[in-house]
Formats: sequence, structure tokens, C-alpha cells
Amino acid sequence: MAALSEQRCRNHAQREAVARCPECRRFFCRECVVEHEDRMICTSCLRTLTARETPRRRHLRIVWRLAQCAVSFIILWVAFLMLGRALLNIPTATHESTLWSMPMEPDLGEEDE
Ligand SMILES: [Zn+2]
Ligand SMILES: [Zn+2]
Repeated sequence: MAALSEQRCRNHAQREAVARCPECRRFFCRECVVEHEDRMICTSCLRTLTARETPRRRHLRIVWRLAQCAVSFIILWVAFLMLGRALLNIPTATHESTLWSMPMEPDLGEEDE
């Protein structure tokens, strides 16, 4: 592989290449490359990349968001379910014991007359 400084821009033969496009493996000058997702790629590749990937990526992002929402909802739901069960178990036990130990009130109204 030749050194980058010895390469010339594909679009500008007189200009020195500063970057190599990872997509098409061609050399380009600073003016002919753009930064795209932390990579320096040429404008023609950027066009094809954005045309090809953007709708799918956007769709994936939406799906990912929905999945995250669903997962957090399920986690919350399970947590509340378990909390609810725990809360249901405790009062039932205490309720029954208090009811059981509570003395029955005799009918006092009849004896008064
Ligand atoms: Zn390219
Ligand atoms: Zn150029």
C-alpha cells in the first residue's frame, strides 16, 4: 500500500489525498470527504450510504425504542406484581388474625328494656 501523502484525490488530480474512503477504498482530498459516524468517507459513498441505510436504521431505532419500552414496562409490571402479591399476603394474614381475636359484641339493646 502506498503512503497516503503520495496519493492524489480521485476527483482532483492535483490535490494531495488526506483520507481514504473505507467504503470504496479510494483516496480523496479534504474537500471530497465528509465525516459520517466517526468515519471519513467520500461524498458519493455518503450518498449511497444514507440512501440505503437511513430508512432501515430509523426503523431499527424505532423498534429498539419500542423494545426498550416493552422491557421496562415488563420489569415494572413484574415488580408491581410481586410487590402487590407481597402486600396482599401480609394484610390477609393480619386481617384474619385480628378478625379471629376480635371478641363478638353481645346484643345489649334487648337487655335494656
Ligand atoms: Zn467512497
Ligand atoms: Zn478532491
